[in-house]
Amino acid sequence: MIIVLFGKPTCGKGTISKMLEKDGYFVLGGSDVLRENSRTKTAKYYNEAQHALTTGILISSELLNKMMTEKISTIDNPNIVVEGYPRKIKQAEHLLTLFPPEKIRAFYLEVSDEEVEERIINRLVCRDCSAPFSRKEPMQSKKEGVCDHCGGELYQRIDDTAETIKVRLNEFNVKTLPVLEYLKEHIDIIDIPDLSSQEQYEFILKNL
Ligand SMILES: [Zn+2]
Repeated sequence: MIIVLFGKPTCGKGTISKMLEKDGYFVLGGSDVLRENSRTKTAKYYNEAQHALTTGILISSELLNKMMTEKISTIDNPNIVVEGYPRKIKQAEHLLTLFPPEKIRAFYLEVSDEEVEERIINRLVCRDCSAPFSRKEPMQSKKEGVCDHCGGELYQRIDDTAETIKVRLNEFNVKTLPVLEYLKEHIDIIDIPDLSSQEQYEFILKNL
């Protein structure tokens, strides 16, 4: 089973991916694949990944598609959660060649722009395992500044500000919504209301 999660920043993709990971799913994040290639000089796309991450220039779909293809060839697990990919039409076309469409279950996690702004300003992320937390309930860590999952340090990303979130929301509406429209011509995308993560997780399990 291939689960693909879509949604605006902070919609809960990360939290739900972690829950599915505990059920045995392999979590494949578009930006994780990019970061993985930037970490060791022996990685096949080290230079390209480094360039994208240090300049902030978005990596081309062609290159990201290649990274995804190679990563998937190393995954020895039929159950995969894909998140943060595809973000462009060319990537969406590629997704449909990576997996048989009948095996894909796609979900769109709904959340309002106002709620996204509120969450971003309070968001904290684990330096080691990327798990998301918040300064506010219900996503506070048990111990302040420490990841519940791995004990890593929590920090606020420098781009998590009220100003940049407006840019990112606009980008989402302009770039990602057309991707969803394209995919809907080929696969079903199920809308999930803005419930608690636990309820959204159960909703997904019921719709697999
Ligand atoms: Zn962690």
